[in-house]
Amino acid sequence: MALNTSLKGKVALVTGSTSGIGLGIAHSLAAEGADIVFNGFGDPAAIEALRRETAEKFGVRTEFHGADISKPAEIAALVKHAQDKLGSLDIVVNNAGIQHVAPVDEFPDEKWDAIIAINLSSNFHAIKAALPGMKARGWGRIINIASAHGLVGSAQKSAYVAAKHGVIGLTKVVALETAQLPITCNAICPGWVLTPLVQKQIDARAAAEGKTIEQAKRDLLGEKQPSLEFVTPEQLGGLAVFLCSDAAAQIRGVAYNVDGGWVAQ
Ligand code: NAD
Repeated sequence: MALNTSLKGKVALVTGSTSGIGLGIAHSLAAEGADIVFNGFGDPAAIEALRRETAEKFGVRTEFHGADISKPAEIAALVKHAQDKLGSLDIVVNNAGIQHVAPVDEFPDEKWDAIIAINLSSNFHAIKAALPGMKARGWGRIINIASAHGLVGSAQKSAYVAAKHGVIGLTKVVALETAQLPITCNAICPGWVLTPLVQKQIDARAAAEGKTIEQAKRDLLGEKQPSLEFVTPEQLGGLAVFLCSDAAAQIRGVAYNVDGGWVAQ
């Protein structure tokens, strides 16, 4: 089968797409012709510029909705916004996420609750809201951005690792429930990607260990990622496009690690 990756006529929501991986995936989907609903936090003027420039560069329609995805009612409003403004919602990329690093016996309760809400429960609420429309139209792609930490653990990341393992479990169940429909649900598990989320961890490490930023970066990669290179948002975008293609129609419930060899160890 020729690999048809055109997404012309499809509408894609990417949560947390004002930065990092989500932005890379939104651009990759737009490059294949998908209309894009951006979501996330940030400077309103910068977000409006991003929305407009994406529309102009790729010749697609773009919307922005600033839902706080820790709040189920706002996720429902976000999905409705996509459907009302762009006519449907065909692709959902559950990407928004946060991190907090601390030992489990010192982990702040409110950080635990926020990570579970944003990194895990939001995926459930977005899928629940979007699935009826996908069923009605007979096509859908759900892509959950988990992590290498959805497959293996690391110290100091109890909430994040629990949430990401949960995302992979949710992915499998949704894939089974949609197995006889032209709707697929899969997860992508990145290793280290140099985004603001990881830069914060590098800066904290450099400060704590009295190292340069460059040394802290090398140490971070050296501990976990055998390639010693960061994964890029564009590489993750390429996989998201593939998962939306016809060639991927029978890929269901898979957690794809894109991690420079992290979980092969
Ligand atoms: P990032 O900090 O660059 O971007 C996070 C995005 O989520 C931003 O757009 C932010 O505004 C948005 N966001 C945060 N809280 C939100 C909320 N309550 N409501 C709506 N939007 C919210 O982070 P990133 O590194 O691009 O991470 C994206 C996803 O990839 C996360 O789920 C993260 O866990 C996952 N991930 C990242 C890495 C990495 O190395 N960077 C590795 C594996 C998995």
